[in-house]
Amino acid sequence: MDIGPGAHTMRGMLTPAPFRPATFVLALVFALISAQPLSAQPAMPAPILLKPDAVFDGIDPVPHAGWQVLVDGERIVAAGPALSVPAKARVIALPGATVMPGMIEGHGHLFLHPYNETPWDDQVLHEPLALRTARAVAQARATLLAGFTTERDLGTEGAGYADVGLREAIAQGIVPGPRLLVATRAIVARGAYGPKGFEPGVAVPQGAEEVSGIDEIVRATRGQIAAGADWVKLYADYHYQRGEPSRPTLSQAEMAAAVATAHDAGRPVAVHAVTAEGMRRAIAAGVDTIEHGDEGTAELFRAMHDHAIGYCATLAAGDSIARYRGWDGSGTPPGMVADTQRAFRLALAAGTPLCMGGDVGVFAHGSNAREMELMAAAGLSPAQVLMAATSGNARIFHQADRIGAVRSGMLADLIAVAGDPTRDIGAVRHVVLVMKGGVLISAP
Ligand SMILES: [Zn+2]
Repeated sequence: MDIGPGAHTMRGMLTPAPFRPATFVLALVFALISAQPLSAQPAMPAPILLKPDAVFDGIDPVPHAGWQVLVDGERIVAAGPALSVPAKARVIALPGATVMPGMIEGHGHLFLHPYNETPWDDQVLHEPLALRTARAVAQARATLLAGFTTERDLGTEGAGYADVGLREAIAQGIVPGPRLLVATRAIVARGAYGPKGFEPGVAVPQGAEEVSGIDEIVRATRGQIAAGADWVKLYADYHYQRGEPSRPTLSQAEMAAAVATAHDAGRPVAVHAVTAEGMRRAIAAGVDTIEHGDEGTAELFRAMHDHAIGYCATLAAGDSIARYRGWDGSGTPPGMVADTQRAFRLALAAGTPLCMGGDVGVFAHGSNAREMELMAAAGLSPAQVLMAATSGNARIFHQADRIGAVRSGMLADLIAVAGDPTRDIGAVRHVVLVMKGGVLISAP
C-alpha cells in the first residue's frame, strides 16, 4: 500500500533538522548545477553507423554482404547497402566482422554459479542473499559483454525475488546487463524439490516455492506475478528422494489452474519437464515453453509443434554436469547427455520451435554460446542456431516486435562478431562490439 503524502509530512514533523555538513555541500552542488546555462546540458548522442563486412539480420539465413546499420537514439533507423548517413553520424568501421542482433539467452539462472565451484545445495543453503546478488550483478555484466542482450532467467533458486531488483537495476542503467525476463522463485510440488537429505520432517529452505493443491498453486502464481514475475516457471516433475528417477509431481488440474492464472495476467508459462508424462501434462495445460524434455517422444514433440510450444533442450547443462562427474567429452556420451541429444533430434525432426537456452548458471555465465555450439553439433546449421538465438527466441518470448532482428524500428540491440558465424558458429565467441538500446557497451 502507498504511504501517501500525509506520512511524509508526519516524518518531517517528527525529524528535527540539525545542521549536516554533507547536506549543506549537496545543496550547494545542486544550486550550482541548476545555475548552469541550458547549453551545458548533455547533447543528444550522435547517430551511429556500423560498417561491418556483412549483416546477419536474424531472419534471413544468408548474411547481407556490404550492408550497414544506422542507429539513432535507442533504435535501428536503417539497415542496407549504401545508406544515406547524417553528416554528424559517428562511423564505426568493423572490418572482417558480421553485425547481428544481440543474442537472447533462453534459459538462465543469474543467481547460480557453476556447480563445480559450489554444489547447488550449498549455494541455496549457505550463500547469503547479498553475496548471491553481488555475484549475479557480475554475472549479468559478463553475459552482456558476451553478446547476450536479453536473458530469460528461470528462477532464483532460493534467492527470493532478487531477480526483480536486478532487472530494475539493469533497466535503470545502475549496473550493466541484459534485458531480463524473470520468473522469481518458481513453483514446485510440496516435497519434490531440494535441498534434501536432512532429518525427516525438519523444514529446510527450498530452491523454489512449494505448493499442494489448486488453491495453493493459484496463490503462488498470483503472488509471484504481483512481486514482479514476467514468466511463471513450474516444475512438472522431479524426484522425491535422492537417487530416484524424476516422476510427475504437479497434477493436470494444478498445472491447468496455474497456466490459466498466469495467462489471465498476461504472463507466459515455462515448465521444467523431464518425463514424458510431465511433458504430456504441460502440453495439455497449454504452457508456452518446455525445458529439458529428456524423455520426449516424436509424438510429444509433434504436439508441441502443433501447439507452438517452444522447446529449450538445455544441452549444455547435461554436458556440463557429465563433465563435472568426470566425462572428458569423448567416446560414448553418458546417459543424460545421450538423452538430451536424442530428444533434441526428435524435436528438430518434428519441427518443434527450438529455443536457445542452455541452463547457464550450471556452467559459467558469459559462456552461454556453449548451447549454440552443442545445437550445431546435434544437427542444426549455424544459421539455424543463430536464428534460434535471435528472432526465434524473440518470437517464443513474445518480444519479436522489439528485439531479435536487424530491422528499422527495432531496438538497437546489436553485436558484431569476428568472421562469419553462419559458416562457423564458434564466431559468436569472438564478440568485438556490443550495443544495447543504442548505447555502446563495448567497441573496438
Ligand atoms: Zn534451469
